[in-house]
Amino acid sequence: MNNRYDVIVIGGGPAGLTAALYARRAGKSVLVVEKNAFGGQIAWSPKVENYPALPSVSGLELSDKLTEQVLSHGAELELDEAVSIKKEADGFLVETAFGGTFFSRALIAAAGAAPKKLGIEKEEQFIGAGVSFCAVCDGEFYRNKTVAVNGGGNTALQEALYLSDLCQKVYLIHRRTEFRGDYALVEALKKRENVAFVLGATIQGLLGENKLTGVRVNAGGDETDIALDGLFVAIGHTPETRLFAQLMALDEGGYADADESCLTQTAGLFVAGDCRRKTLRQLTTAMADGASAAIAACHYLDA
Ligand code: NAP
Repeated sequence: MNNRYDVIVIGGGPAGLTAALYARRAGKSVLVVEKNAFGGQIAWSPKVENYPALPSVSGLELSDKLTEQVLSHGAELELDEAVSIKKEADGFLVETAFGGTFFSRALIAAAGAAPKKLGIEKEEQFIGAGVSFCAVCDGEFYRNKTVAVNGGGNTALQEALYLSDLCQKVYLIHRRTEFRGDYALVEALKKRENVAFVLGATIQGLLGENKLTGVRVNAGGDETDIALDGLFVAIGHTPETRLFAQLMALDEGGYADADESCLTQTAGLFVAGDCRRKTLRQLTTAMADGASAAIAACHYLDA
């Protein structure tokens, strides 16, 4: 593999892959570095129903098609974690966990965001032993069992719907009484007989010795234990911007403080997708960013 590119994209989710597609179609050499799975978070979405022109598609199918499309246009994909990014006089040096060293004149930060943790005792210990951050990945382990989903955004609502098809009982635990996620998803959940809403409630503790057996929730000062086989934590995401912190301004939430132009304070560095400050984090807005960042990178390279 060549190790010099016109553009390196960090992150192979919808934003990063779209950026790669646009940059390749503009004739630039492109490497995408992704640490987990090409397709990003959307690959774990059971069903996407708000992607224009495709009324219902699985997230995995969508991300597979996007990855194939990007490969067919000649982008190179590297499954490895970028661990260091250095600004050089004429570009960027990217070092990876497996010892790779890559150079590009333009860099697109599209590393997305990682699931947030509750930050309570035993959470780390119970990952894989009752605590999960992905219903599509782990839901099957809880077939016909009792689970809870924690959160009130679209991820939590979608996961609760998905799990209600598999599990005997699903508790949806949310800290407020209103939901941040889509009205249509809330209405669909209300129609499910095996879904119970536990609202205005926060999880105080995880029960069990070697594996999760339940949660202790506090609702308005009253503490209750709910017996569970599994807990799916879906309380939002933390932006993956740590590597770029010296090269771009971040807002108070750690998101890249850049507008739709996707420009950063560093010449040649662009930002796209969920790791950028924005009001709506969706597949469509991530892809829009990918296109904008790639075209901005091409203008930079051609100037
Ligand atoms: P989100 O929209 O940020 O929602 C996070 C939820 O977790 C909120 O309800 C929040 O409560 C709650 N929460 C946050 N911290 C908490 C804590 N420490 N303890 C308890 N609850 C906590 O995150 P998301 O659902 O992962 O969605 C992220 C973005 O992706 C959103 O823009 C969403 O629309 C989008 N998305 C889209 C699709 C789709 O297009 N099909 C699917 C999934 C996600 P509060 O409401 O009280 O703040």
